[in-house]
Amino acid sequence: MRRPLVGIAYPAPYRAALSSLAYHLLKGLLAGEGIPYTEVFMEEEPWSPGRYRPPTALFASLPYELMYPDMVRLLDQLRVPVRAGERGEEDPVVIAGGPAVTANPLPVSGIVDAVLIGEVEPVFHDIIDALGYPSRKSRLEALAQVDGVYVPSLGNEPVTRVYARDLDSAWYPVRQEIPRGVEPVWGRSFMLETTRGCARGCRFCMEGFIFRPKRDRSLKRILELMEEGVRVNRVGKVAFYSLAFFDNPAAERALEHAVEALGLEVSVPSLRLETLTERRARLIAAGGQRTLTIAPETGSCRVARAINKYAGNERVLEAVETAVAAGLRSVKMYLITGFPGETEEDLEATVELVAGAQRVAASRGGRVKVSVNPFIPKPVTPLQWAPMAPLGELRRRISMLRRRLARLGVEVDAYDPRYAVAQAVIARGGPEASELVVEWGRRGGGLGGFRAAAKALGVEVERYLAGMDPREDPPWHRVAVHPYARLETLRLEYKAYLDAMG
Ligand code: SF4
Repeated sequence: MRRPLVGIAYPAPYRAALSSLAYHLLKGLLAGEGIPYTEVFMEEEPWSPGRYRPPTALFASLPYELMYPDMVRLLDQLRVPVRAGERGEEDPVVIAGGPAVTANPLPVSGIVDAVLIGEVEPVFHDIIDALGYPSRKSRLEALAQVDGVYVPSLGNEPVTRVYARDLDSAWYPVRQEIPRGVEPVWGRSFMLETTRGCARGCRFCMEGFIFRPKRDRSLKRILELMEEGVRVNRVGKVAFYSLAFFDNPAAERALEHAVEALGLEVSVPSLRLETLTERRARLIAAGGQRTLTIAPETGSCRVARAINKYAGNERVLEAVETAVAAGLRSVKMYLITGFPGETEEDLEATVELVAGAQRVAASRGGRVKVSVNPFIPKPVTPLQWAPMAPLGELRRRISMLRRRLARLGVEVDAYDPRYAVAQAVIARGGPEASELVVEWGRRGGGLGGFRAAAKALGVEVERYLAGMDPREDPPWHRVAVHPYARLETLRLEYKAYLDAMG
């Protein structure tokens, strides 16, 4: 069997790829097996086709829906036909992977040749073996036999998500590319994944559902990786990577080791606020982090209970006080608006919560920053059937929050609801959405490209934003099976949401 030449296609700038653990993982797996590979990014400077020679397969990393039109642009730049059905014997097999396509592969099903539903470690060798077959047809047939791989052109048999059962024995990219002259998003640091998945079950959170079950790395393995990672990469900082950091029982000891034993700087991801203690906050501050991120999402107890993320507003204020008292200069609070059934009183409660947090922070010389995001109903979550608030309504709520919070002296940034609408259309799209993605990419991506593509194809955006009957099986569940997020469970959870919102 021939060894394939593989291309890694990352439809974002190089700097963004450097901050993606999946990118380092894929490169490391290929290098470890001695498989030649080439890389392509969405560069800001003009594309130079001379850099590139056509590989047997292109691995496209697609963590977010809004990267899909850029993937189309990348394929165009590479002169690879953008529709799977138009590719010939000489064209690479395009394989997509990442959270967004794991949840719903249908919107790329007309573009890519195969989608990996789940995590790459357990099936990497099988995928490489499948690519060694002599013809395009035989490669696709062999890929369809690999666990977790969905090949749209060979039928719609449901594919069960694959995942690494034990993180300690899973291969880890200890050597990470940290070039001089390019500043990665987290700074020059070694990225260390401590946990994959999250057991909390917040009803809007796609990552929480598709990465189940939660798997922790052991303290022993975390410390081994940390020491080796900072040594081989010659960096003085470790960026911890997980969904709910202190939910790993080893996290505090790992943090202690990094800061106190090795004298490293640290970066800790957004925390479950109820897991913050004085000791932990002091360690984070001693590791040089200036801002702590928490995600209460709302100040309304009713909404917090409905989305299954209730901590109590006193706990939020306590977390802010603990953080600032420990020496962190600011606390960033993530908020979501537009949950179905959210009222003016719920929004008022959010303003009140932030006002309280700001008072607590200011009394100790700190400050609060807020990031407001529109609610987007995502596939493979209990809220996948829920309607999304209309654009005008989202604008109104965001501008109300922005105005009221700015008056309190709070720095507010908000996700543009127009992008949220585009994201929702793709996230909940079926196979027909592939043509929208192609047209969107061809029209240059961005909001203008989305609007023009939807208009040209007569796409009724509102149809994708409307609620679905919860008795209906969403089309993505017919393609991808998530054993830890079964339809019956999601339905019951959605009902619990509706009951809680009254
Ligand atoms: S929102 Fe955070 S805590 Fe909740 S399920 Fe998602 S990752 Fe876990």
